Amino acid sequence: MDDKELYRQILGVVQPWEIIKIDLDMSKQEVNIYLEYPLPSEGVCPKCGKICPVYDKREERIWRHLDTCQLKTFIHCQTPRITCSEHKTITMDIPWSSNMSRFTNQFERFAIDLLKATKNRQKAADLLRISWDEIDGIMKRSVKRGMKRRKDDDVPYVGIDEKSFLSGHRYATILTDITGKRVLDIAENRDTQAVDTVWKALSDKQKKGVKAVSMDFWQAFRTGAETHVPNAVIVHDKFHIMKYLNEAVDAVRKQEHKIFMKNKDDCLKGKKYLFLKNRKDFTKKDRSNFRDLNLTQLDVGRAWNRRELLRNFWDYTYEKPARNFFKKWYFSATHSRLSPVIKVAKLLKKYFENIITFLKHRITNAFAEGTNSVIQLIKSSARGFRNFENYRTAILFFCGGLDLYPQESR
Ligand SMILES: [Zn+2]
Repeated sequence: MDDKELYRQILGVVQPWEIIKIDLDMSKQEVNIYLEYPLPSEGVCPKCGKICPVYDKREERIWRHLDTCQLKTFIHCQTPRITCSEHKTITMDIPWSSNMSRFTNQFERFAIDLLKATKNRQKAADLLRISWDEIDGIMKRSVKRGMKRRKDDDVPYVGIDEKSFLSGHRYATILTDITGKRVLDIAENRDTQAVDTVWKALSDKQKKGVKAVSMDFWQAFRTGAETHVPNAVIVHDKFHIMKYLNEAVDAVRKQEHKIFMKNKDDCLKGKKYLFLKNRKDFTKKDRSNFRDLNLTQLDVGRAWNRRELLRNFWDYTYEKPARNFFKKWYFSATHSRLSPVIKVAKLLKKYFENIITFLKHRITNAFAEGTNSVIQLIKSSARGFRNFENYRTAILFFCGGLDLYPQESR
C-alpha cells in the first residue's frame, strides 16, 4: 500500500476527491496532505442539492486533522465553487469539515470528547496541541450547533434559579428542564430582562406544555412564570425553603452564643455545622455532641426543632392533612419568641398556596443546584471565566444536554 492509499483510507477520501501529494516534514513533526477536486467536473449545490458545473476553485485552505503516527496532520485543499442556476456561484460543501472551521470534523469530535473527559479547557488544548482560543472556538461552535439542533420536545417541568458567578459579585438566571435534567439557558443578571431571555429557550408549543415551574420567592421569577407560562403552576422549591430555615437557626445560634459568651460560657462555640446538619446525617460524634447540650433549654435548640419539624411537610401526599400540619407548625413557629424563625414562618404563610403545590408535582431545583459542582470544576481550571459568554458556553456545553458533534448524531 502506498502513502496515498494509506491516507485515502485513513481520511476516508472518496471519489472524485483525490490525494495529489503528501509532504512529510520531520523537522516540524508534521504531515501535509493535499486534496484535490479534479476539473472539469460537476458538484452538488449546498443550498438546493442540484448537480451543477464546477466554476472555479478558491484559494487554498488548511484544516488540522487528528494526528497520524503522532505527527500533526494538515489537510490542504482549494475548495471548488459551483454555478447553480438558482444560487449563483457558491462554494461547495466539503465532506471533512464544516466551512466555518479550521479543523476537520474528526478533530472537533475528538476535541469535544477530550473536553468532556478533562472538564478543563487548558488541559484539552495542551493535549491537542492547539491554543486556548482555538479550543474556545471549538466549544462555542459546538454549543451553537447543539442549540440549533434542539427539538420541540415536551418539557413539562421547568426550574428557574439564580447562580452567582465571578466570586459571587454578579448573578445569572438559569432555566432548567427538570425531567430531562438539562440546562435550557442561562442569562446575565436576575431581573425581568434576564428572565425573559431564558424563557426564549422554549418554543410557544413547549411553553404551552409546561405543567409547573419550581423556583424560590424571587419576584422576577414569579412574574416571569405568570407572563410566559400563565397556565403553569408555581411550586416554591423546598431546598430554598429549608435554606431560609437554616439561616434562621444560624441567626438564633449566633445571638445566643454572643449572650453566653458574656458569661464566659462557650457551649455553642464551633457548633455552627452541627445545627445546620440534617439529623439523619448525624455521625456518632455529632449525636454525643448534641446530647451534651441541653437542647430544650436553648433558643437554638427550639429553632432547630422547628426546622426539623417542617421537614415532615414534604412527605405528605394529601392536601388536607398537609394544610392541618402546616397550621400547627405555623402556630408553634410564630409562638417561639424567636424572631428569625417567626420571620421565615410568615414568609412561608404568605407564599403557602405555591408551596403546597409541591404535593402534586413534587419538583425541586435540585438539578440546578447539582450543576454547581460542574461549574466549580470549570471555574477552578486555568483562566476560569473571562466573561459571561464564556460562563454560559461552558454550562451549556457540559450541562445543556446538547448534541455537540460536527455531524448530527442519529
Ligand atoms: Zn442551488
